[in-house]
Amino acid sequence: MVHGAIATIAVLLLLSAAAMSLLTSFLHRTSRLIDDSVEGVRLAMELQQRMTQYNMLSNVTLASAEAGLVRPRDNSPALEAIVAGVDRRLVEVREYVSSPEEDSLLREVEQRMHDYFAARAALLERRAPPGEAIRASSPLLDAAMTSLQDFVDKNRRQAQAAMRRAASWDSTADVLSIGVALLAAIATVGALVALERCVHAPLAALKRVIDRFARGDKAARAQVTGPSELRSIAAVFNGMADRLIYQEANQLAFIAGVAHDLRNPLTALRFTVGSFDSSGPAPTAERVRRANDLVGRQVDRMERLVGDLLDATRIHAGRLELRLEACDLRELAREAAELFRPLSPAHEITVEGAAGPVVARCDPARVAQVLNNLISNAIKYSPQGGAIAISVGEDGGRASVTVADQGIGVEPEEIERIFEPFRRADATRELVPGVGLGLWVARRIADAHGGSLEVKSAPGRGSVFRLVLPLAEGAAPASSPSAQAASIPRS
Ligand code: ADP
Repeated sequence: MVHGAIATIAVLLLLSAAAMSLLTSFLHRTSRLIDDSVEGVRLAMELQQRMTQYNMLSNVTLASAEAGLVRPRDNSPALEAIVAGVDRRLVEVREYVSSPEEDSLLREVEQRMHDYFAARAALLERRAPPGEAIRASSPLLDAAMTSLQDFVDKNRRQAQAAMRRAASWDSTADVLSIGVALLAAIATVGALVALERCVHAPLAALKRVIDRFARGDKAARAQVTGPSELRSIAAVFNGMADRLIYQEANQLAFIAGVAHDLRNPLTALRFTVGSFDSSGPAPTAERVRRANDLVGRQVDRMERLVGDLLDATRIHAGRLELRLEACDLRELAREAAELFRPLSPAHEITVEGAAGPVVARCDPARVAQVLNNLISNAIKYSPQGGAIAISVGEDGGRASVTVADQGIGVEPEEIERIFEPFRRADATRELVPGVGLGLWVARRIADAHGGSLEVKSAPGRGSVFRLVLPLAEGAAPASSPSAQAASIPRS
C-alpha cells in the first residue's frame, strides 16, 4: 500500500513535470508570435507614415514645379531616401511573417506600394500637373494603404488570438496544477496512513511486546506482520525469547540436577555415618568394609559431578588443556573396565578387538574420563543388567573405541540432543539421576583431540557410543584385524 501511494506520487510528479515543459514551450511559442505580430504592426504603421510622407512631398514637389519654384529633381534625393527607407522596412517586416496568409498579404503590400511609387515616379518625371497626379495616383495610394491596413489588422488579430490561447492555456494549467496538487496531497495522506498502518503500528506493537517481555512477561511474543524487515525482526525476537526461556528452564533443571546429584550421595553418607552408634557395640570388620565401600562410591560420584562441572566451565572459557602422548587405547579400555566391573556385578563388561596395542595420540587422563563416562552411562542406562562390550581397534587409519550396551536406548529425535549441555533424554530424566553434562564434556574432549564421539541407538535395544581418535605417528598397526564396526544389539 505504501509502495502504491509512493508510485502514485511519483507518476503525478512525472506527469506534472511533462505538462509544465509542454506548457512552457507552448507559452514560449505564443509569446514569440505575439512579439512578431506587434513588430509587424509597428513596421506596417511606419510604412503607412512613410507612404503619407512620400505622397505629401511628391505633391508639394509637383505643385512647386508647376509654380516654377523648384525643379522636381531638387527633391529627388529626399523622395528616394523615403523609398529606400520603405524598402528596408519591407525587408525587416518579412522577418516577422509567421503564416502563409500573412506572407501573401505582404506580397500584395509590396506590389501595391511599388505600383504606387512607379506611377508617382512617372508623374514626377513628366512634371504632371498636381491635380492630374493626385487623380492618377490616389487609387494606387489607397490600394497600398488598404493592403497595409489589412496587414496590420491581420497581425493584430493574430496577436489577439495568441493572447486568447495563452489565457486559455493559463487557466487550463491552473486547473491542472490544482488537480495535480490535490491528487498529490491525497496520495501523500494515503502514504502516511499506509505508513502508519504497515510500519508504525507493527513497530509500536513490537516495542510493546519487547517492553512486556523485559518487565518479566515471559509469554509475550511479537505478531509476525508488516513489511518483511519487521516480520523478520519479530520472528528473530520470538526465537530469541523462546531460546531465553528454554535456557532459563535448562539452567533451573541444571541446578535441580546438581542439587539432586549432590544430595543423593550426601544422604547416603549421612546414613552410613549415622549407622555407627558410638554407644552401641563395636561394628564388625565386614560392616566397616561395606560402609567404607559405600562412602568411597559416594565420594567418587560427587567427585565426578564436581569434575564435570569444572570441565564444563573450562570448556566454556576455552581453557581445556590436553597433555598429548602416545598411549595404548586397549590398555585404557581395560583399566576402565576393571574400575567398573566390581561396581556393577549385574553387568558383564568385556574388552575385545585388537590383540596388540592400538596407540593413539591423546591425553590418557582425558580419554579415561571419556571411557569412564561411557561405561558409567552404559551401566546406568541398562538397569536390567546385561552385556557391555568395549571394543578397541583401528578403522580407516584412526583409532576407535566403542562401548555397546543392551539398555534402554535413545529415541531417534533425541540422539543429537543428548550431546548438548544439561540435556537428558525424556525416558531417563525421572529414572536415573544425572545432570546431562557428561556426554557434552566427552564430545568436547574428543573434538579437542581432532577426533569424534558419535552414537547409534535404538529405543529398547541399546546404544553404541563410538570414540574415534588420531593414531600416534609411527605407531605400529594393531596385530589383529581392526575391531568390527560396532552395531546396535538386536533384541
Ligand atoms: P547424565 O548421564 O548425567 O544425564 P550425560 O551427558 O552422560 O549426562 O548423558 C546425557 C543423556 O544421554 C542422559 O541423560 C541419557 O538420557 C542419555 N544417555 C547417555 N548414555 C546413554 C546410554 N548408554 N543409553 C541410553 N541413554 C543414554
